[in-house]
Amino acid sequence: MKKWLIDNEIKGIAAAPGISIAKAFLYTREIESVSHDSITEVDEAVSNLREALEKSKKELNKVFSLAVDKLGNKRAAIFEAQLMILDDPILIANLFDRIKKEKLNPEFIVHDEITKYQNMMNESTESYMKERSQDIEDIKNRIIRNLKHKKWHSRISNDVIIVAHSISPADTVLFSRVNTKGYITNVGGLTSHAAIVARSLGIPAVVGVHDGTSKINEGDLVIIDGYHGVIYVKPVDEQINYYSDKIERLNELDTELLKLKDEPAVTTDGYEVKILANLDVNAEIEFIFQNGAKGIGLIRTEQLFNVLENFPDESLQYTTYKELAEKLYPQKITIRAFDIGGDKVLPVDVKEPNPMLGWRGIRFLLDHKELFKTQIKAVLRASVHGNVNFMIPMVSSIREVLETRKLIDECMSELKSKKKNYDKDIDFGIMIEVPSAALMINDFSEYVDFFSIGTNDLIQYLLAVDRGNDIISNQYQEYHPAVVRALEFILKDAKKNKKPVSICGEMASHHTAVPLILGLGFDAISVNAASIPQIKKIIRKMSYQKTKELVEECLLLKTENEIKTKIKLFYDSNYDEDIEQIFDS
Ligand code: PEP
Ligand code: MG
Repeated sequence: MKKWLIDNEIKGIAAAPGISIAKAFLYTREIESVSHDSITEVDEAVSNLREALEKSKKELNKVFSLAVDKLGNKRAAIFEAQLMILDDPILIANLFDRIKKEKLNPEFIVHDEITKYQNMMNESTESYMKERSQDIEDIKNRIIRNLKHKKWHSRISNDVIIVAHSISPADTVLFSRVNTKGYITNVGGLTSHAAIVARSLGIPAVVGVHDGTSKINEGDLVIIDGYHGVIYVKPVDEQINYYSDKIERLNELDTELLKLKDEPAVTTDGYEVKILANLDVNAEIEFIFQNGAKGIGLIRTEQLFNVLENFPDESLQYTTYKELAEKLYPQKITIRAFDIGGDKVLPVDVKEPNPMLGWRGIRFLLDHKELFKTQIKAVLRASVHGNVNFMIPMVSSIREVLETRKLIDECMSELKSKKKNYDKDIDFGIMIEVPSAALMINDFSEYVDFFSIGTNDLIQYLLAVDRGNDIISNQYQEYHPAVVRALEFILKDAKKNKKPVSICGEMASHHTAVPLILGLGFDAISVNAASIPQIKKIIRKMSYQKTKELVEECLLLKTENEIKTKIKLFYDSNYDEDIEQIFDS
């Protein structure tokens, strides 16, 4: 990272890549004050509340239809969830009852009742639930504002970098209309809405900066670097020139990279690797086509459905999967069964002492067979054109695979008896994320068609380092010798059994990891769609033979540092394009 004489840097979490220089727009969502006063006109208060609820509903319906346009049906569903709260008969009855009984200001009663909802969510150990409690803050404020008959001023200028304490889903929709140049938030992690939507729409974002709103003033010029998670407030000329140059080179790179769209990812000595895309949200589809992905290697279905309390039924799932399969045809899509639990929301009310080692992925699904079968049937029905693969997450034993296969057979018979079509040769695979599965590739090969390595989890379980804990994040080492050796071991055994192996963890999206990933000999790599052109360009400059030698050398090293240095040296001497400095410096 470049060092400057001036200390105007703020650090945060790099949540969405890209660089922008623009004026800051300080977005402070007005928190409505509430008074605890008694009232005498109960009827008037009741009718005021009724009107405020109606108005809030109308406003939210508007936001919802705008969100469908901008973000697609699935992500817009969050507003449907907010609307459902407004329709919750118990909550609404409580509000009216309390006004009548306690004779207190309706604003206070609304605040008190909805805060109870929020507290319940805040107590959850799941970061997802905590973030959703922020969405409820939105509704609470909306109703109170309408009780006070106040207008909502959305005077956001065009082309600004939004600086906020947090950003709600409704806010992101609002901002998407004004050509936002970046998001900076005090709170929030990689799974916050601001981060997800920013990544989908290609807007740089830095989140979790703690004191962004106090260090940045309205109208300050700001540089946001979403690659490294840094922000410069009131930059000096030297910084502006440096980053303007980077932006220019990124634009050139984009134009140049797009020319590679239809070229294969083939090395100088003729080895071809398929580059697929990971899909988290609908809006990414556009980038998947634009960047020339050869299919989708991982669909995180749990993300698509914003799983809250209810799972989508078979017909909704079927439509979603079928649409994707048809859009991508003849290329393949790989649908992963719901990976819930762990760091992802669990739809049942249990508190686990150790969620990452708990009721997660396939373990949860096999304990909820009806729910699992609903998903399997939807996937099978969407597979009619023969371009759908199905895989299961978090596998640690053969029993899980056998039980899943049995359920797939049951689902096939049920569909057959209902005269519903499906691909009876659908490929079935497992994710390799748990060390026990990695050690048993030989045995699993008898029962599966392919393997997909999820390095995000494999590294966490191999090194016993929580992937989401920033206290020990320096020990989450992607190039740890044990990781490199595990990957080599998995590939060797899978090849012996003639089973294809892909990698879909974040590691595969890192451009400096390309020589290692290439040399290990994956059949396919599945990365975030935005990284595809860059990775393809690097592959096209590498010799497969040389990367294989690099892997052999790495396998003998004993520390992550040694491995990192070796790969970096290799990268630099085989890929000398100056423009790559954009990402590293
Ligand atoms: C992984 O673990 O590498 C993976 C791709 O799955 P997720 O990140 O969804 O856990
Ligand atoms: Mg995983």
